[in-house]
Amino acid sequence: MAFIDPHIHMVSRTTADYEAMAAAGVVAVIEPAFWQGQPRTTAGSFQDYFATLVGFERFRASQFGIRHYCTIGLNSKEANNERLADEVMEMLPLYLTKEGVVAIGEIGFDDQTALEEKYLRLQLELAVEVDLPILIHTPHRNKKRGTYRTMDIIEDLGIAPHRVVIDHNNEETCKEVLDRGYWCAFTIYPRTKMGNERVVEIIRQYGTERVIIDSSADWGVSDALAVPKTARLMEQAGITNDQIEIVTYQNALAAYSPSGQFREEDWLNPTPVDQRTLFQGNSVLRGGQSPRVDEAGEELIIR
Ligand SMILES: [Zn+2]
Repeated sequence: MAFIDPHIHMVSRTTADYEAMAAAGVVAVIEPAFWQGQPRTTAGSFQDYFATLVGFERFRASQFGIRHYCTIGLNSKEANNERLADEVMEMLPLYLTKEGVVAIGEIGFDDQTALEEKYLRLQLELAVEVDLPILIHTPHRNKKRGTYRTMDIIEDLGIAPHRVVIDHNNEETCKEVLDRGYWCAFTIYPRTKMGNERVVEIIRQYGTERVIIDSSADWGVSDALAVPKTARLMEQAGITNDQIEIVTYQNALAAYSPSGQFREEDWLNPTPVDQRTLFQGNSVLRGGQSPRVDEAGEELIIR
């Protein structure tokens, strides 16, 4: 079975993660721009981070047979630094139009401050302008209130819910998110956001329409294999393969393909892995390591 992990922060992960993900069937990932555990102090840090997401990280994934896409945006935590936020807003249009950018995000609320709302609204308007889907991060504190407030703002701006993925849902928010017509994503994140046994129950109750599973794996205690592991758990729980494919592949494809950047043929007809390839003069190898070089069609040959 092939999987998409539509929310994972690969800049914080290792090459061993990429190898394990590819072996488990992950064919494509979406890496949302987010904060990195401590606040950035200059706009240049954002610029280089965005450049990495569309540049070296995309290349690095390709060297392990995984297609990498990203979303670009100003996260809610750092929206509270107004001077910096204004500078980041200025550079967003440039990065939103780069190859491989499938949405604006992840944006939304953290502490639900006035500044967070200001930059959420500005970025929602920008998404309409550049005609991109939207990825919403919902807050961990006062989740229900923050999620409902986010949807109210989106609707206030006249944005169609089918253009928006709302992530980090739980039992408390998912019904309303689905009823209002949004893509409803569940982050399988150990011991905090949502365990995968709970998500199996949610799928039993609400079905698979507009439901998306992701890992949000990052620099914290998290699991880069959350999507394939959840698929296996669903299988054991008697959920059909068709239903599993909808929540671990098809819905993410449908949600982000309006960007024009998220195309199935990218991973169905992959360029063979060749770790001799360079990105701005650098490869993923260090001195003395031997490159993995696959040949086209090699997967059919039995030696
Ligand atoms: Zn995230």
